[in-house]
Amino acid sequence: MEPRMIQNVESQNLAPKRLLGKVAVITGGARGIGAATAKLFAENGAHVIIADVLDEEGTKVAESIDGLYIHCDVSKESDIESAINLSISWKGQLDIMFNNAGIAGYEGRSITTLDMEKLTHLLSINLFGTIHGIKHAAKAMIKGKKGGSIICTSSAAATIGGFASHGYTMSKSAMDGLMRSAACELGVHLIRVNCVSPHGVPSEMLLNAFRCYGEVDMTSEQLSEFIGMNASLLKGRGATTDDVAQAALFLASDESGFVTAHNLSVDGGITSANSVMS
Ligand code: NAD
Repeated sequence: MEPRMIQNVESQNLAPKRLLGKVAVITGGARGIGAATAKLFAENGAHVIIADVLDEEGTKVAESIDGLYIHCDVSKESDIESAINLSISWKGQLDIMFNNAGIAGYEGRSITTLDMEKLTHLLSINLFGTIHGIKHAAKAMIKGKKGGSIICTSSAAATIGGFASHGYTMSKSAMDGLMRSAACELGVHLIRVNCVSPHGVPSEMLLNAFRCYGEVDMTSEQLSEFIGMNASLLKGRGATTDDVAQAALFLASDESGFVTAHNLSVDGGITSANSVMS
């Protein structure tokens, strides 16, 4: 018998493309978790639109993945509408909406001194930005009649209060509720709505939050090490942007076709168990 060639799929870079031909809009895709996800989605065959307020960084990411960049402040409903219209005019469809843009907000650490103006600003991005994203993605997906996947970046803070600011915690908890109610309504159109909840990813946002609230200036390596040692069940293993991107890829792909109204934690286990006694 002739020996059969055993093809090494990985070495030939023939890994299955899990989002082949799908069109995705990623808000907050100019850096951090959003940029890592944009890259991973594109590697998996998706056409990606980066929607952000950081024009230079966003354009660079978009160019590196043969995608498009659009200036989009998620707190403005018309900006989100334009980002989604761009996906329709570009490829005729929208399959994946990743509502990922967010800020830590610096409205004050104590509830007794909350700056209501800054709090309103935070909610306009983290919460209303997500509402805009779900609303207009749902409209386009319903019209497209092919279902879709809407993913929102929540946070471990939505489950455990305490380590983030009040406004941030509140915005992400509200996002969870919104995700569940939207999933209830949109399931009939085969549109899935889920959250991914990271924790401790050394992005600009988290480094700034440590600077502002903790008054500590760390490099991303130091922050990763700190999280790995102090706020993860996986001691010594800090989170990366790729960890979250992989979770988003699963929720975006057809492999999660029966997963909706779910909040997928990418948090080293800290919202499910604590390691105080172990
Ligand atoms: P990041 O600061 O690197 O990225 C945030 C992105 O959102 C940036 O590109 C920024 O320009 C964009 N953005 C901010 N305001 C915007 C607006 N009004 N309109 C459009 N884009 C806007 O931080 P990151 O950690 O990658 O954050 C991504 C998401 O992950 C956020 O929603 C954040 O709350 C969430 N998150 C992060 C962590 C973490 O540990 N880093 C943990 C939990 C949740």
